[in-house]
Amino acid sequence: MNTHIPIEILQQFDVPGPRYTSYPTADRFVEAHGEAQFIQSLQERKASARTRTSPLSLYVHVPFCASLCYYCACNKIITGNYQKAVDYLDDLAREIDLLLPHLGQTQTVSQVHLGGGTPTYFTDEDLHRLMNLLQTSFHWQSAGEYAIEVDPRTVNDDRLHQLWAMGFNRLSLGIQDFDPKVQQAVHRVQTLGSVSGLMQTARQIGFASINLDLIYGLPLQTLDSWHNTIEAVLQLRPERLALYGYAHLPVRFKPQRHIDVHALPQASQKTAMLSMALERLQEAGYVYIGMDHFALPQDSLSIAKRQGRLHRNFQGYSTRPDGDLLGLGVSSIGSMGASYVQNAKSLDEYSDLLHQGKLPVVKGVALNRDDLARRSIIMALMCQGRVEMAGIEESHLLNFTHYFARELTKLQDFVEQGLVKVDSHSVEITPLGWYVVRAIAMVFDKHVQADGQRAHFSQIL
Ligand code: SF4
Repeated sequence: MNTHIPIEILQQFDVPGPRYTSYPTADRFVEAHGEAQFIQSLQERKASARTRTSPLSLYVHVPFCASLCYYCACNKIITGNYQKAVDYLDDLAREIDLLLPHLGQTQTVSQVHLGGGTPTYFTDEDLHRLMNLLQTSFHWQSAGEYAIEVDPRTVNDDRLHQLWAMGFNRLSLGIQDFDPKVQQAVHRVQTLGSVSGLMQTARQIGFASINLDLIYGLPLQTLDSWHNTIEAVLQLRPERLALYGYAHLPVRFKPQRHIDVHALPQASQKTAMLSMALERLQEAGYVYIGMDHFALPQDSLSIAKRQGRLHRNFQGYSTRPDGDLLGLGVSSIGSMGASYVQNAKSLDEYSDLLHQGKLPVVKGVALNRDDLARRSIIMALMCQGRVEMAGIEESHLLNFTHYFARELTKLQDFVEQGLVKVDSHSVEITPLGWYVVRAIAMVFDKHVQADGQRAHFSQIL
């Protein structure tokens, strides 16, 4: 797909919306769904065939960072007190100890993602300890995807060798922008030379895939400076790229109060930056996976997209079939059977619950029949760009055109703009529609449609 992207389409859909790493989205989780319900879903997995046929994914949240990036909207703790990280490692061990009796000792894992915060805040010794803990608690598949988010300022060549030796085979580097002025304005300075050197070493070591995260809409960014960053990234040629729009929400995210609002690009400039990046990346051979993600044609994500095997989980797009995801650590979200759960968001509460011998799950949701049908549709749109009505009818025992009559009417606006095609068998997103796929998926989100309260979500673009 390589389509000219009319700026007016991007502008029209520049409104807040969910990222659909889950459906229902995390703002729908309730306290009534807590530890007891989670234990039940763990035990159901243990007793079911899923234990043998569908490996687990693990997400481990490491919340610590050495310094504050002003654009940050993550759950993190800025600290120079390393003892907190040591204590946290003990808490992770407690959490796994509490989980295993319900889950059993025979669970296979095919995907691990360490995110943050800054996972490389841990010393090599402590990261080894964490990996050892995970590898002795679960059976790791030899051909799995084992990824770690890396702050380039915290690693050198030797550390990359250590990460490889620990079992990681994928890296995700936080870049955001290479312009020195922009880096200073967001308090995150890292040179192009250092990132380039790290990527070269990582490739020599054998890392299968390197992802770079970029952000457009940051203070002092201009179309020209952003163009330079994109060109520099194209020279580095990472296997995967994620391109996020900066959402300035200083009331909600305190670090953003350091950002001079007058230095932020206007909405129209932001859209122009996105449009330029979308066109330039595709010209340079990247495949637009969907939402904010790009990959080289030979990357497994692009292959999965071509073959209609893309999936979506809390880390974004994935090549692995939907399965159960165990979220470990403070604020982590997991998905088990037809339910989602989330751990306590504050480190104190997370740790206190574990010290009381309780799993730190504080909220979640069990999906009902309607949620399950809508989740199938939203994920099919986000991943395959197509929903077969007969498939939904068969899996969810409903009449599609009758059950979703209101949604099909709403889709007519998108049809008229050439973003969606609807016939009596399917709903299909056009090449142009892929750029606003989130807005199209939102039509099937009962909660967003019911309350129209979308301001707490990030911008769609
Ligand atoms: S952006 Fe990443 S490294 Fe920076 S403060 Fe936030 S979590 Fe830490």
